[in-house]
This record gives sequence, C-alpha cells and structure tokens, in this order.
Amino acid sequence: MKRSSNSHSIETVFAQADGVIDPQTGGVVPPLQMATTFVRGEDNQPLSPDHIYSRDDSDLCRLAEAILAKAEDAEAGLLLPSGMAAVAAVMRTVPTGGRIILQSGIYWGVIKWVREFCARRSIDLIEVDCSDTAALRSVAVSADILWIETPSNPYLKTTDIKACAGIVAEIGATLVVDSTAATPVLSQPLNHGADIVMHSATKGINGHSDVLAGFLACRDASSDLWQAILTDRHDAGAVIGTFEAWLLIRGMRTLPLRIERMCQNAQTLAEFLSNHPSVEHVLYPGLPSDAGHDIAQRQMKGGFGSLLSIRVKGGREAALSAIGKLNLFKRATSLGGVESLVEHRHTIEDTVPDDLLRLSVGIEAVDDLIADLDNALR
Ligand SMILES: *Cc1c(COP(=O)(O)O)cnc(C)c1O
Repeated sequence: MKRSSNSHSIETVFAQADGVIDPQTGGVVPPLQMATTFVRGEDNQPLSPDHIYSRDDSDLCRLAEAILAKAEDAEAGLLLPSGMAAVAAVMRTVPTGGRIILQSGIYWGVIKWVREFCARRSIDLIEVDCSDTAALRSVAVSADILWIETPSNPYLKTTDIKACAGIVAEIGATLVVDSTAATPVLSQPLNHGADIVMHSATKGINGHSDVLAGFLACRDASSDLWQAILTDRHDAGAVIGTFEAWLLIRGMRTLPLRIERMCQNAQTLAEFLSNHPSVEHVLYPGLPSDAGHDIAQRQMKGGFGSLLSIRVKGGREAALSAIGKLNLFKRATSLGGVESLVEHRHTIEDTVPDDLLRLSVGIEAVDDLIADLDNALR
C-alpha cells in the first residue's frame, strides 16, 4: 500500500490513516487483505518480498502500528491481540530471579497477572504507590522493570514520568508506562523519559467498544528488550487479526476529535460532581484541587482524559442505588468508548472502596450526561 512520507501533525496522520491509498483502485480506505499465505513465482521468489505469511505480513497491522508509533513519537510500535497480551509481552522479558517494581492501585488485571507470573518465575515483586515519588525512591533497588500507569485506573492518580525516569537511570531498570487512560493524543510518555509505552487499544484508541487490541512503542528499537519483545511476538505468535487492524485504523481516524470532546465532557462533569451534595469526592486530574494536577498539566496536553471516579456519600447502598438509576451511562466495564459507561468496581475488585463509581465519559451532549447523573444521585 502506498503511503505519503511526510511530517504532518498527528491529527492529520490519524484522519488520513497516514495518507494510505490503495494503489490498485485508488480507494481512500485500505482494502481488507484476508490471505494468510502468499504465492511465490516460478523462480520460487515471493511475488512481494513483504508478503510471505500473515503472522508477520499483515499490511493493515503494519499500517496501524506506523500510525500509533508516529503518535507516540516512537522508533517502533507493535500491536498485540489485547492490552494484557502487551503487558505479558513486556513482563516475559524479565529473567527468572529478576525483579519488577510495580505501581500499586493500578488496573487490577495487570496486578493479578504480574503477581502470579512473578510467583511462577521466582521474580521479586515490589509493589509501591509510584504517584508518591518519595515512597518509590525509598524502596527503589536495582530492578529489570519499573511499571507505572498514569493516570491510573480507577483512582486517577498521576505519576511523574520524568521523576520515574530519573530513578530508573539510577537503578538500571526499564521504565514502562501504561498510558491507556491518556491515549497518545494527550501524552507521549517516551518524550518524558519512558523507555516503553503500553496501551490497551481496546479503550480510547479504538474508541468504539468493538476491538480488543494492545499496543507497545519504544524509544530505542535497537535495545535488547525491544528485540526480545519482537522475537517473542514473531515466534510465540501473539498477533492481532487483519480485520481487527482494519477496524482499529477506521476507529483511529477520529481519535483526536473524540478525545477532545470526551475530555471537555469529563472536565465539565468533574466540576459539576465536585459541587454535588451527594458526592463526597471526585477523583480527576483535571481538577485544580487534585493531588496530581500540576504534574498532569506538565505531562498531558489538551485535556486530562475521559476517566473519572466519584465517592458517593452514603456508602455502598447509595452508590448501588445511584448506579441503578442511571440511564445514559451504561452499567458495563471498560472505558474510552464513544458511549458513557459506569462501573461499581468493588463488585469485581473488592479492594476498591464500595462507595466508588468509575465513569468513562463518552461524546454525548454533556447536558444530557449531567441530567442523568443528577437524577441518579438525588
Ligand atoms: C483495559 C486495560 C488493560 C488491559 O487491556 P485489555 O485490552 O482489556 O486486555 C490494561 N491497562 C489498563 C489501564 C486498562 O484500562
């Protein structure tokens, strides 16, 4: 597929899918090539050197990776079949007997998988609240990986990427940032000193709640760690399907636009909810009163994301009563889609306070969302 080689701004790269045009038809949307294998000519050479077997040779996967790598200002990017597959691909580079420092209070699926993985591999696991740089510094010892998530899910804590980069330089670790809640539109962790950035592309990047995908991008594609991840995907075969890549490219065309609207809506809702008589506390880095606001302002641009959590006055019963009365906010897990979702995290993760509701704010008219929340909370 033909691609324009340019240095346009990221909105343009997303809108035009990096300038892709189907050379055969002139189609402005890339064709869906579903073949898993490709013929060789009479001389036994591949007809196209880039097309031998689709585990490695999906043009659509390569295109989606190129778009996202540009957005992250990365040397290279890699798609995997889910966010968790991306997490696992990074963690599997840690040798038996190694050490991982993991931010506490992050996405539960990561904590659970990493704990079990470390136990199996005799890897030393240190869990610490990395949004507290002093706490991190006090436990930091030589390690293979420092894993942070900012803003974190579901507590919306902001972690100072630059400060963490300073610490990994001292302890010789690789800094990995799960930037799912920020998306590449709002933050480029590699430009703040991270070595690897990870996304669940299932969330805001695809944005339509119809694709599972994970993404990794690196600052240095020649590093041993990145090469190990590349080899592992090639040999162990954790690849994304062609149709999923096609859907992802389609979804990403509107990514900057969606994120802009979602951030505006989330900011408005956070301000509305922080003045609501039924709400004890709003967790959102866009509020000036939030502990992470100043750092978030430094390492995010254009908004503070579409995820926020509230602590409802009256505890578990009040929270469950409110969630039951919501109409526009759909009661479902996940985040980053165009439709607003709400979740009582305690129901599936019992360490989360039972008065906490997590909101993923979509692109609906904000007045409708306010009315829905106000009605449910009263
Ligand atoms: C959803 C999520 C993941 C896992 O991604 P999947 O695509 O569901 O496998 C990892 N990190 C964060 C912050 C998430 O929200």
